[in-house]
Amino acid sequence: MNLKSFFFQPKQRYNNFWAILFYTFFFTNLLNSQSKEIDEIDLEIKKYLYKIQENDVDEKKLKELEIEIENYKKSNSFPDVKQELDQNLFEFSNVNTKTYVVKPNDTLFSISKQFKMNVNQIFDLNPELKTKPLYIGQVIKVIDNVQEDKNSDWRIETKEIFEEKSYIVAKGDTLSSIAKKFNTTVEELLKINKLKRNSILKINTKIIISRYKIVKEFKVRKFFIKPVDGYITSTFGYRKNPFIDTLSNFHNGVDFAAPIGTPIVAAKEGIVIFSGRMVGYGNCIFIRHPQGYITVYGHNKVNYVKVGDIVEKGQKIGEVGRTGYATGPHLHFEVRKLDRVLNPLVALQWEERVEISNKRIALK
Ligand SMILES: [Zn+2]
Repeated sequence: MNLKSFFFQPKQRYNNFWAILFYTFFFTNLLNSQSKEIDEIDLEIKKYLYKIQENDVDEKKLKELEIEIENYKKSNSFPDVKQELDQNLFEFSNVNTKTYVVKPNDTLFSISKQFKMNVNQIFDLNPELKTKPLYIGQVIKVIDNVQEDKNSDWRIETKEIFEEKSYIVAKGDTLSSIAKKFNTTVEELLKINKLKRNSILKINTKIIISRYKIVKEFKVRKFFIKPVDGYITSTFGYRKNPFIDTLSNFHNGVDFAAPIGTPIVAAKEGIVIFSGRMVGYGNCIFIRHPQGYITVYGHNKVNYVKVGDIVEKGQKIGEVGRTGYATGPHLHFEVRKLDRVLNPLVALQWEERVEISNKRIALK
């Protein structure tokens, strides 16, 4: 029985009303912080039902929709992402954390150097070390930045900043009084200001106290990588409903068209929090990342990952398909932070940078 005939049987009307409500609600407002008013949703349902009555909707699409709704009702498995995040956000701060067994002669400093961490990160991961000393055989948590470097997309960037400290000469100042005040020497002041020993200081002129060059080194990489080799067919924001042109919907993600079977990769390292069918999205995957970010991959032909899997950035997680509410084979990609949807095309431009060295060089 298809949805159309199903709907127009009076006894079933109530059930189908809810089925369509579910569909409309989830398609347009799934976890969306800009959720519409009930009246607007009601209006959309009415428009949609009108289209069905006018026999203006593709039978094949309706059949797919019916299956989607049935699957949704059966599984009822939409994850409560926000609640889960609230519970686990803090224990999931670093996916590349691993355990390390303390060896003879290890110190916090030597361990931090070995894994390219700073000592504070070791304390963050192992709060007990703040009050108790290390012992041989102790199991601690570390972040393996060395491992990460091996197959990483990091690049190194250097930034130079010049820092100058100066002083405006006041009445009664001498070079030696200024040197004393700033904990330097008359010799230094003469050199840095290119002054002769017997120069007279003029009131209201600038005396340079010190000059430094700060050289900072960062490792930089894209925060998210593009999850599929495809071209953009639909961007984030309001757009016309692809099936019903009188409706416009908020598109929560970006669509990348690609042939069926094209590999889909994780945009960032993370943990799989949903993998399965979801109304509208078809076969889809949700991955949670550090700092509360979630990426969503929809309409997949197959998913290679299951809930709880830890995935690396760039790891193959599935294949492009056209399951769910899709006009053609494409990947529907979303980026969320907690319960908010973000523009993936902006997020794909983000970079993460980690300071790896900071040198302060005095200039004479
Ligand atoms: Zn989409």
